[in-house]
Amino acid sequence: MSASVPADLSSFLLRRIAERGFITIDDFMAEALGHPEFGYYVTRDPLGAGGDFTTAPEISQMFGEMIGAWLADIWAQMGAPSSFILLELGPGRGTLMADIVRAGKAAQGFTGAARVHLIETSPALREKQREALEGYEVRWHDDLSSLPADLPILFVANEFFDALPFKQYVFEGAAWHERVIIAQDGELSFSSIPVRHDPAQGMRLPQPTEGKVLELSKAREAYLAALLARLKAQGGAGLMIDYGHLKSGYGDTFQAVRDHAFSNPLEYIGESDLTSHVDFAALARLAEKDGAQIYGMTRQGDFLLKLGIGLRAAQLSQKADTAQKEIIEKALHRLTHSDEMGSLFKVMGVGYAKHINPAGF
Ligand code: SAH
Repeated sequence: MSASVPADLSSFLLRRIAERGFITIDDFMAEALGHPEFGYYVTRDPLGAGGDFTTAPEISQMFGEMIGAWLADIWAQMGAPSSFILLELGPGRGTLMADIVRAGKAAQGFTGAARVHLIETSPALREKQREALEGYEVRWHDDLSSLPADLPILFVANEFFDALPFKQYVFEGAAWHERVIIAQDGELSFSSIPVRHDPAQGMRLPQPTEGKVLELSKAREAYLAALLARLKAQGGAGLMIDYGHLKSGYGDTFQAVRDHAFSNPLEYIGESDLTSHVDFAALARLAEKDGAQIYGMTRQGDFLLKLGIGLRAAQLSQKADTAQKEIIEKALHRLTHSDEMGSLFKVMGVGYAKHINPAGF
């Protein structure tokens, strides 16, 4: 191997930092998660007990069943098209989509009309998805550009937008600076560089005070804009679910998770999941400007309870033994309670399907 080929992600990043003296947080995150050879999502299945974190569909089938029921209801209200794109962005192990197509069978014609399309960059996770969806015809895409252009779309994105890169700005000495990562003697640390523009422009935030942090994500906005362009042209709607806030504000939410615990984002690079909270308000502003409808924005717990997850839990419990009953009860609590995922996670319904009355909001 040539000496100029980096042996791992850290040496690759140190070299990139050496080029300009720093790397921005969004570029750092894009490489740490998505580097084609060493990136976190490229090299592993990060989910579940043996992985680094757990997500709602991995906690219980009830989550996917509620999402499936929501999508099937919208499909029916759209006039039950005989063929449509059932799209998931960042499907992880494929568990959510498997639960959606299974639960969707309760709505006559829904699963049969669904053409399953998955947007996934990780080869390791594509393999898991293939296994989870055995028996279904599935198409994979690296991004939205290769999706068929002639069918309406119903989509879901659970913990997808939080994995897309974001920038941080910090208000220091009465001026905005961009937070960046520098290297000293091979050790990474945070620093900041002055910016000329006002990153908070148009956000209607209170005047910042010293030390306030603002997070912006062009990558998330660009992804949503591309998705909305498809929905506008082809018709359709869907759900974005993520941890985040319903109002824009200041705050540092840069988070690294490894082995089910928080870690330092500058350690274990490529071996920890990096995210930040999704600013749903910013995404909703963009969608509304685009002419899309926001069907609702709410907390995950409220959304799932309105869709009847409590009844579903009771129904499953009837056929369960004591140990299973306890598992169902715990899962219900984790998904809906405000001490768990119920409040932190938010749900936004968005789309171009008109004259529909979406459930759950
Ligand atoms: N939705 C799943 C997994 C969430 S983890 C669940 O709820 O369990 C994030 C998912 O997004 C993973 O499948 C990851 O590989 C995928 N992903 C991350 N960045 C991506 C990108 N830029 N393009 C496509 N998929 C991406």
